[in-house]
Amino acid sequence: MPDVNPPDRTAELAERLGTVRGRLDAACRAAGRDPAEVALLAVTKTVPAVDVADLVDLGLTAFAENRAQEAAAKAAEVARLRPDAALHWHFVGGLQRNKVRAVLPWVTRIESVDSERLARAIDKEVARSRDRGERDGPLPVLVQYSVDGDPERGGVPDSGLDELTDLVAGLAGLELAGLMAVAPLDRSPDAAFAAIAGAARRTRERHPGATVLSAGMSGDLEAAVDHGSTAVRVGTALVGERRITSE
Ligand SMILES: *Cc1c(COP(=O)(O)O)cnc(C)c1O
Repeated sequence: MPDVNPPDRTAELAERLGTVRGRLDAACRAAGRDPAEVALLAVTKTVPAVDVADLVDLGLTAFAENRAQEAAAKAAEVARLRPDAALHWHFVGGLQRNKVRAVLPWVTRIESVDSERLARAIDKEVARSRDRGERDGPLPVLVQYSVDGDPERGGVPDSGLDELTDLVAGLAGLELAGLMAVAPLDRSPDAAFAAIAGAARRTRERHPGATVLSAGMSGDLEAAVDHGSTAVRVGTALVGERRITSE
C-alpha cells in the first residue's frame, strides 16, 4: 500500500467530512444542543490506513473498527504514518472472548459489551495487562443495548440491561462509561432512538458516571442527536461505500 492517497481521494474525504460536520451542526442546532457535546467517531472498517491518516490531517482523532485483526494492523499502520497524533480507537463489533487479548493493546474504548461472559473476559485481560505493567486504570466500556432483542445485531435485550450494567460497574478492570446502540432498520429511527434514550436514562440513574450514549450512524444521526446521543459513529457518509476486502 502506498503511504499517501491520490489527491482526489484526499479531496473527497475532505468534502465528505465537511458534509457530515454540517449535518451534525444542523442536527445539534435543531435539537438545541451544543455541537461540542456530540463526538464524531469515524468508522473506518474496510478502508485503508492512508484514509485514516487523511482524516487525522483533517482534524479527526477518534476512529471505530469492528474486526479485531483488521483494526490491530490498521492502528499500527496509522501510528507509523502519523506518529505524533494522539488517537482514540473504539471497538464497535461483535467481540469473541478469545479476541479480547488482541484488542487490548490498541483500544481506547470497547463499545460492544453485551454479555456477562464477555465483560468478565475483558476484566481478566485488563488485570493481566496491568500485571505486566502495560496498562494502568480500568478500560472504559459501553454496554451495547438491543432495542428489539434481535441477536443478529448484538446487544443485550432490555430485560437484561440493568443486570449487565450493574455487573460491569462492579468489575475492577472496567469503567462503565455508558451505552451503545444500533437502531433496527424495521422501525422509525425516532421510535428506536426514543427507546435507546430511555435505556440510557435508566442506566445513568443507576450509574451516574455512565454519561456516554453512542448512537447514530450515517443514515440516522439526526434522529440520534435529537434523542441525546453524545457520540455518532459515521462510516459510509465519511469514507464511502465499504470495500469488500480490506488491505
Ligand atoms: C459500520 C458501523 C457503523 C457505521 O455505519 P454507517 O452506516 O456506514 O455510518 C456504526 N456502528 C457500527 C456498530 C458499525 O458496525
